Amino acid sequence: SGPHVVVIGGGYGGATAAKYTRMFSEGKVRVTLIEPNANFISCPISNLVIGGLKDISYITTSYENLEKRHGVRIVRDMATAIDPDKRLVKLAGGGEVAYDRLIVSPGIDFMWETLPGMAKEGAKDKVLHAWKAGPQTVALRKQLEAMPDGGVYALSIPLMPYRCPPGPYERACIVAHYFKKAKPKSKVIVFDANDDVTSKPALFKKAWEEHYKDIIEYRPKHNVVDVDAATNTLKFEFNEDFKAAVLNVVPNMRAGDIAVKSGMATANARWCEVDFLTFESKALKNVHVLGDSIQIAPAMPKSGHMANQHGKTCAAAVVNLLMGHQPPQLPLYANTCYSFVNDEDVVHVASVHRYDPEQKTMLTVPGSGGVSAAANALEGRYALAWAQNIWADMLA
Ligand code: FAD
Repeated sequence: SGPHVVVIGGGYGGATAAKYTRMFSEGKVRVTLIEPNANFISCPISNLVIGGLKDISYITTSYENLEKRHGVRIVRDMATAIDPDKRLVKLAGGGEVAYDRLIVSPGIDFMWETLPGMAKEGAKDKVLHAWKAGPQTVALRKQLEAMPDGGVYALSIPLMPYRCPPGPYERACIVAHYFKKAKPKSKVIVFDANDDVTSKPALFKKAWEEHYKDIIEYRPKHNVVDVDAATNTLKFEFNEDFKAAVLNVVPNMRAGDIAVKSGMATANARWCEVDFLTFESKALKNVHVLGDSIQIAPAMPKSGHMANQHGKTCAAAVVNLLMGHQPPQLPLYANTCYSFVNDEDVVHVASVHRYDPEQKTMLTVPGSGGVSAAANALEGRYALAWAQNIWADMLA
């Protein structure tokens, strides 16, 4: 008995929302989480796995505590459709789950139509993105290990907005760190569709100059418009084709398929517009969308830290709405994104965001946040502690 909340996706947004809906309602609201994967695998820290500094087991956490400690029912399946009139979620396995309120946090999916060559057979197994943590993280590590010394690893970055603005620049550092130790004649070439480094530019450029002067080459304004996986070649809007030993293409992205398919991606057919007080979709009633899938407010990054805060704000709103109360009116939340520049030194960017009742959006609190003065090892310890803490907050 009791109202029923269904959550689609057990990542940073969804797992947090599932756990906090149970906690905020003191068990009065039943929660079902629909997630196809047996374990949660974190994108944050996954660049260290690619660089050989951590094992995949370090970034993997079981969903078992959500079930055993918090009473979340877990359905290991893929949601394939939402029927907002009947309040039903349809599952790939053939079943259906009824809800009073639905929370959707499916992360991102890729706009493969912008890279036509990637539709060829075998292309997606050869040219990896590793922008969802899991099998591709391990596979990219293997490609780097197999690459002969003297080879070129080319990483392409899509135009903003994309998941985790600093993530690609951190990846360039960590791969270069590996090359410096194990394959010193090799190069990292970063092709960025954007005009400049999109996050912590001065700090990343300083790290490249200090640690990887002869390894990393950064080429802005290089927009990849196709990939020939057979020859490992990148094709650009304006520049010459480029062939590399290992290609790592981060494609353009949009809200997760289920959110797009159900008509919620109303912003440029890419992202879901929400009411920031409740995270209720502007397109579907009683359906809330969180995390990377949403059309973010200005200066709010698509990050795991943000998705975790969305999860709590949404859980508080949903529990209040189900109990017939007004949702909290002044959400305030923070973001910190740490990036490793080598095996121990880290830089951060932080910000605080508050709901503005007049503009009905989240605004950055003036004077809040900032970036590190310089990369340092103390923040390296903070970064790993951040990861352990947020995983525990979501899943312990
Ligand atoms: P996710 O965490 O991706 O969760 C989505 C979940 O939904 C998945 O488990 C998926 O299996 C499930 N799902 C999808 N579709 C369905 C469906 N139809 N039915 C059922 N389940 C479904 N953020 C930080 O804050 N700090 C960092 O240091 C950081 N580093 C990063 C480094 C890299 C290399 C990358 C790629 C990202 C990084 N991020 C970082 C960003 C962070 O990973 C994302 O912002 C975060 O995962 C978003 O949470 P989410 O809930 O929207 O999506």
